[in-house]
Amino acid sequence: MAHRKTFILSIDSGCWDYLDPLLAQGRMPNLERLIQQGSRGVLESTIPPITPVAFASFITGLNPGKHGIFDWAVRRGRGFQSASAVSRRGTPFWHYLNAQGVRVGLLNIPMTYPPQPLDGFLIAGIVVPRSARDFTYPRPLLEAIEQRHGPYEVEVSRRPAPPDQCACPDGDLDLDVEDPVRPVAHGGDPEAYLQAWLEQERRQTDIALELIDEYRVDVLAFNYVSLDRLNHFASCFEHVERALENVDAQIGRFMERFPEANYIVMSDHGSRRIQGAFLLGKWLAEHGYLRYGEQNLRIPRHEVNFVLTRLFQEHYGWRGVGERIARRLVGGLLRIFPPALLEPLWKRLAAQAPGAFAYRFTSRVDWPRTQVYARSPNGPLFINLRGRDEHGWVRPGRQYEAIREAVIADLRRVRDPFTGEPLFQRIYRREELYQGEAAAEAPDIILDPYGSSCDLIVDNSPQAFHFVNRLTRFGDHSHEGLFVLSGPDFARLPDGEHRASILDIPATLLHLYNVPIPENFDGRVLTDLLAADFLRRHPVRTQAADGDGAGPQREYSDEEMAQLTEHLRELGYL
Ligand SMILES: [Zn+2]
Repeated sequence: MAHRKTFILSIDSGCWDYLDPLLAQGRMPNLERLIQQGSRGVLESTIPPITPVAFASFITGLNPGKHGIFDWAVRRGRGFQSASAVSRRGTPFWHYLNAQGVRVGLLNIPMTYPPQPLDGFLIAGIVVPRSARDFTYPRPLLEAIEQRHGPYEVEVSRRPAPPDQCACPDGDLDLDVEDPVRPVAHGGDPEAYLQAWLEQERRQTDIALELIDEYRVDVLAFNYVSLDRLNHFASCFEHVERALENVDAQIGRFMERFPEANYIVMSDHGSRRIQGAFLLGKWLAEHGYLRYGEQNLRIPRHEVNFVLTRLFQEHYGWRGVGERIARRLVGGLLRIFPPALLEPLWKRLAAQAPGAFAYRFTSRVDWPRTQVYARSPNGPLFINLRGRDEHGWVRPGRQYEAIREAVIADLRRVRDPFTGEPLFQRIYRREELYQGEAAAEAPDIILDPYGSSCDLIVDNSPQAFHFVNRLTRFGDHSHEGLFVLSGPDFARLPDGEHRASILDIPATLLHLYNVPIPENFDGRVLTDLLAADFLRRHPVRTQAADGDGAGPQREYSDEEMAQLTEHLRELGYL
């Protein structure tokens, strides 16, 4: 049976603050046309408004308390591991669509690696280990794409290689991102970085347009990420604008080919400009919640490559092919030695080049004297709880609550140095924010700095201040993303701004195909934005949730863990 096509085109980090000036100047004509023929509004993200959490909600229709993704890393045993489709709970929306014969294509949607079988195709978005070749479904799809379009990379490398150099898949690491004071330097040319993104997204659109026909998909979900990366890493707004113009041109290609389709343009969260950063780890240490001890130099195997890169490139100024070969050789040797035997060697190197090891802030924490810690710059805080955390000692119950209340009260007093307002608009206890079977894995406290003029740094070096200027990061995320609903099954309400939640998108999508809404969904069908005639013919129905589509079971190898960790550090997410 032929279904009407629906295109879900996500502009990662898209927000009206950034898009409205471009729309007013006529620089996003295709999106403008969709708005005129449909409706527009603010799409509220998850808390925190970050890609893995928001996309896990988009995929499952569930709040984080049910899908279990609260940050880029998730709890595993007493430690943490990179969030992925493996750690995501809940049934993806395409499972329900496939059950009704609706075929689905997914291109560059985060949190879909490792891929699960589906009726349609899948090319995973971040996070994918760099050496992985299994990020498509069906698996031979990757080879077919590469035969036609050349090597496919999930992410544009942050430091574009000069044209006369080959780009080694794990050769270039941008090591400056954790450093709170030194400006982030684009080793490469910012213009080349922008151009690489424009090319990447044109090519991904070429691929999408081919695969829609080849796999006869009815629904395509596609995430454009250039805006997000340029928002973080560009130093001027012009590059952000040019990325958006390019995305608009790609949206126009779908509209031209499929004028009768439904279009859902959305974003997983919004963006805001920032001027500084708050050194959260430093603040915790100064207020006695966290203590630094002697640096632990038991480098786990998956960090060996990271440390060697910092040593060779950063401290000894070694670059190029020789460095990479040496690093592979030395790395290979070091990996087969028992870590305890290597400790004296690491100690000697650390004495010579302490900066290469400075990122290991968690290892330098004096755990028996630490009450509260952060693992990422995205807002979650953890109490060092006995029986749960690796080095936990805080007793559950009264002691836990007393520490939690004290740190919340102290953090409420922190002011944004640029506005004088409280830095955190809200500070949540886990139970205030998340409900569901995974809520027990949530962080103990969730900070919300997403309306302030600062982002957070979980810093690693004791210094004399709490805030630093952000000289080279243009922006960070905000709560308010965007949506545009346009097409034959949507209402024409171009004037005015509507409001919805990212959780409403999967519910609305299922309803477009007359699929009953699973009872455990946390979002609703956006009935007021559907065409009246469509709604009359298709009343909203519900069905019992189906557990069959839960995530794939697969463990990461040490090598994959190393690549995931490096990749997230490179992006500044860990
Ligand atoms: Zn995002």
